[in-house]
Amino acid sequence: MRPQDYQAPDDLLRDKVILVTGAGDGIGRAAALAFAARGATLILLGRTVEKLEAVYDAIESAGGAQPALFPLDLTTATEQDCEQLASAIGETFGRLDGLLHNASLLGERRPIANSSLSAWQEVMQVNVNAAFLLTRTLLPLLEQAPQASVVFTSSGVGRRGRAYWGAYAVSKFATEGLMQVLADELENTSRVRVNSLNPGATNTAMRRSAYPAEDPTRNPSPDEILPAYLYLMGDDSVGMTGQALDAQ
Ligand code: NDP
Repeated sequence: MRPQDYQAPDDLLRDKVILVTGAGDGIGRAAALAFAARGATLILLGRTVEKLEAVYDAIESAGGAQPALFPLDLTTATEQDCEQLASAIGETFGRLDGLLHNASLLGERRPIANSSLSAWQEVMQVNVNAAFLLTRTLLPLLEQAPQASVVFTSSGVGRRGRAYWGAYAVSKFATEGLMQVLADELENTSRVRVNSLNPGATNTAMRRSAYPAEDPTRNPSPDEILPAYLYLMGDDSVGMTGQALDAQ
């Protein structure tokens, strides 16, 4: 079976506690709603409170478990912010079953020769440093879960570099590296599995901003690419670690 063709049972994520970063919009929003619809309790992390509240309302009105909101701008997130998040999750749930690193910045689309250091650092901060910090801080809670899954979001340009994709592409290579190193460290000592997923071209604000001349409807909606996300979050992927997968 290809993860893209996975059919998730309705109760796939029952009793699981899952944190999604960038949960207010795009793929993160769709993934959070789909996880909640399969029984998970969501921790919604993002930088725009109104968007997180809208996802909260959508989950509640669909009959899902009451989510937790954690507004945080990953551009400025500190170790203390992450520790506060871990304490709150520890006190409320005692464990974390799933972590979807989804929030990312696209940054500047221009040649390396013309890239600014400040824009480069901002992309690296959100896409790489914040993911590292969150992972490191939440690892003890992931270890408390019977079978935890960490999913990093990659991109086609994180597997083969392409002109003018600058810091974004390099950050996605780093994301793959973080995934591989962590997966290798945990493989024989832990029940935490770690994989990366490339969503592929998907009709979101980020894609529309990267390809302004493209007809957005030629790409699938976030809802259409979720089977691989569900596969990686649920117990059907137990035993799979260190893999770079594609959602399309
Ligand atoms: P969107 O830009 O539509 O959504 C990204 C989400 O991340 C938003 O909710 C955004 O918050 C949040 N976010 C961005 N910066 C921060 C920050 N500093 N702190 C907290 N949250 C932040 O992107 P997509 O849904 O398209 O992308 C999701 C993931 O998929 C990304 O990792 C992206 O790189 C990857 N991807 C997407 C592809 C596509 O075609 N769409 C293709 C390949 C990879 P807010 O809503 O407040 O701006």
